[in-house]
Amino acid sequence: MLGDVPAGDLGRVDYHEHFFQRSPLLPGEDLDDEELSGREAVLLRRSGFEAVVDATPLGLGRDAPGVARISRASGLAVVLTTGAHRSAHYPPGHPVPAAPSAVLARRFTTDLVEGAAEDLHGGAQGAGEPAGAVRAGVLKVGIDYWRIDGFAHRVVEAVAAAHERTGAPVVVHLEHGSAAHEVLDLLGAAGVAPARVALAHVDRNPDPGLHVSLAERGAYLGYDGAARHRTHPDSVLLDCLSRVVEAGAGARVLLGGDVARRSRYVAYGGMPGLAYLGERFVPRLQLAVGAAAVDAVLRDNPARWLTWVR
Ligand SMILES: [Zn+2]
Repeated sequence: MLGDVPAGDLGRVDYHEHFFQRSPLLPGEDLDDEELSGREAVLLRRSGFEAVVDATPLGLGRDAPGVARISRASGLAVVLTTGAHRSAHYPPGHPVPAAPSAVLARRFTTDLVEGAAEDLHGGAQGAGEPAGAVRAGVLKVGIDYWRIDGFAHRVVEAVAAAHERTGAPVVVHLEHGSAAHEVLDLLGAAGVAPARVALAHVDRNPDPGLHVSLAERGAYLGYDGAARHRTHPDSVLLDCLSRVVEAGAGARVLLGGDVARRSRYVAYGGMPGLAYLGERFVPRLQLAVGAAAVDAVLRDNPARWLTWVR
């Protein structure tokens, strides 16, 4: 599905994956093969999702035309992301962390309004698709573990400016789920209401009381840590999510896989793949909270979050 799609028509949304990504923090884990990422997209589609947010921001090998071709071939609607990750994801000398906030704001706004031009130092750009034809739909901010550095402050400023101009929603990368209230404070002071913000990786700190307090401010809770039992088994996530739903915050939960490494993509020869979420986690979530709550998490909540509100 290509072009502008009303968020209410997206269907079931995986709010966080990556079809293309390159980072010095993930050596050997590049997602850079359009054909293989396209095959993984088909597996995600067959596992019960109609739409997905590609959460790779500027300068990490994002490939807007490649994503558009994957969308067309797989039948998945893909929402592209602009904005930036935390500074550690950029190699030394990369232009993104060095850019002043006004430059970042212009670039983010252009990606949203006119189309995502070639990735800055992002390497191979797919051919054949005019870059301007593919517009981003989400703004990203990345912060470190309990640390918001100078670059993150500039990105917050730039994201807030692009948000004010467009009403596009915001996703925040929280390192291990830390500093969630603090980044909401910072975004709020810059003019981005918590109700427009999705907090990615809150479930890396599976604390239902904390999650409810974030949802009470209006923020969306990004659960995207399934299949990582070296830190928490899925049962911990399911229990935490169930308690959040019981506390009345089910309307703020988003679900994604954030698999993000080639060694974890079936099409690249790894496991468990993007289909794990739909095939293994969602059925258990349905048993835990019921079909209606899962439908809200997969359809209504992402549709509300992804709608541009001026
Ligand atoms: Zn991610």
